[in-house]
Amino acid sequence: MARTNASRILEETTIESGRLEGLAARIETSGDSSSLEVRTPVTDEPIGAIPACTADDVAAAVDRARSAQADWERATVDQRAAILERFGDLVLNHRAELLDVVQLETGKSRQHALEEILDVPLTCSYYAAKGPSILADADRSGAIPLASEATVTYDPVGVVGVISPWNYPLTLAMTDAIPALLAGNAVVCKPDERTPFIALALADLLVAAGLPDGLFQIVTGEGATVGPALIDAVDYVAFTGGTETGRTVAERAGRNLIDCSLELGGKNPMVVLDDADPETAARGAVKGAFTNAGQLCLAPERIYVDDRRYDEFVDAFVGATRRLELGLEFDYGPEVGSLIDGDHLEGVREHVESAVADGASLLSGGRARPDVGPFCYEPTILADVDPDSRVACEETFGPVVSVYPVSGVDEAIERANDSEYGLNASVWTTDRERGRGVAREIDCGTVCVNDPYTVGWAATDAPMGGVGDSGLGRRHGPEGLRRYVDARTIATSRIGPLDAPPGVSPRWFARFMLGLTMVQRRLARWVP
Ligand code: NAD
Repeated sequence: MARTNASRILEETTIESGRLEGLAARIETSGDSSSLEVRTPVTDEPIGAIPACTADDVAAAVDRARSAQADWERATVDQRAAILERFGDLVLNHRAELLDVVQLETGKSRQHALEEILDVPLTCSYYAAKGPSILADADRSGAIPLASEATVTYDPVGVVGVISPWNYPLTLAMTDAIPALLAGNAVVCKPDERTPFIALALADLLVAAGLPDGLFQIVTGEGATVGPALIDAVDYVAFTGGTETGRTVAERAGRNLIDCSLELGGKNPMVVLDDADPETAARGAVKGAFTNAGQLCLAPERIYVDDRRYDEFVDAFVGATRRLELGLEFDYGPEVGSLIDGDHLEGVREHVESAVADGASLLSGGRARPDVGPFCYEPTILADVDPDSRVACEETFGPVVSVYPVSGVDEAIERANDSEYGLNASVWTTDRERGRGVAREIDCGTVCVNDPYTVGWAATDAPMGGVGDSGLGRRHGPEGLRRYVDARTIATSRIGPLDAPPGVSPRWFARFMLGLTMVQRRLARWVP
């Protein structure tokens, strides 16, 4: 049989022959399901197939997860943490194959695939270290000081559904699963149908780390079939994806009366103040706008530059952008890889072409690069963009960014906030205190000072998420763990029922309760 480019590509990697088929075979189905082809954006050829799970397959996976969860919940948090720490070690030890699978499925550069690998062990270590105290029983003030007490316990919700997108398929399959598992839940993960193999490879490593069978399940298939079936069967949904899909997930979760976190899209602003160093800000803009070919929810797509720094900034930014190396090799050379598929390439191209038709100037890029790869697109900088054009208002999610001069900090803040989205922003200045002050004025879940996104994302102890159309809820930090538990209050009276003792007249008791209420209101201010 003639060798396809896809099999030639596999030979460039450490992925062993038959490995992807072996991973797909782990997905349990009833046998009625059809299969979906998975293609690599590196050559636009098939690399394997996965089951298109039916609603029954999804329900069966959740049942298996639920059975496994009962014992897992009884393990101590420290026992669960030890397994997740081992998993973090295994991810690092198996990085060569994991990097190859991520690059093969997404076409991203190896530099950006590495960011995904590094994230997982750090998340494991953070929750392994902090989880036990975040989940420990907490004593709270009782109804009546000395006469009663209250304790809060945190119990796992049960089975968590994690629905993840293709752009960071390794990080985003795991970053929400790790705290869910640590809290004593089982997880059923539905990866994007274009990038299922990395999630399956991670499931293998979780088992190798000692995670009991059944606790982490993968279901594959079309989002519109598998997603709703999953939401109908689980106890919590951690969704990452587009805003419109997020709305349907929220509606369905609401109907089922289960909670959810929604990590959605952004149209992220970057603000360059008059005292910023233009070279530093330009370096940050290149990193932010073109990491993963701009397919990063946190990437800046709108840059507001104080007009006193505009020319210097634009010169430095355009120069650095033109020096970026595009390529699809399985090594650390190229800085910009591929877009995920042809539909996405068309969407990016349409945003740029319609902006140019509306009068925008191309400062750099603006062309597809089929000579590099079937879905590659040049890092692109636009100026003179009509504020009503699609590229100004809608998320492009590609290597396209617009620069706008502004007359000062007030206009920069006003324009940064002129969006339905509110995910991530950055402020650039040589005066960090001033930067933090401006950050407080920007309506986003995360605002980074002098870095485009990494300093915010990698602060695992701090919550991350969006406001407005960018979502609900938070991942990372104590907030990212507490979303997966139900708080139970155990309140105890030391004096029997809190009611009038026998023989006490209602009038006297009413007077006593009014007096006590006044004392309690005072105490509330003084007692910590
Ligand atoms: P998408 O919403 O189309 O798909 C995301 C996931 O949802 C996939 O697994 C998909 O199969 C599944 N899905 C599709 N239809 C569904 C349905 N009806 N019910 C349940 N699940 C369904 O997203 P996309 O366009 O592939 O991903 C890119 C988007 O994700 C961008 O908007 C990006 O900004 C956003 N994103 C956000 C974050 C964040 O942390 N805020 C991170 C990465 C990506």
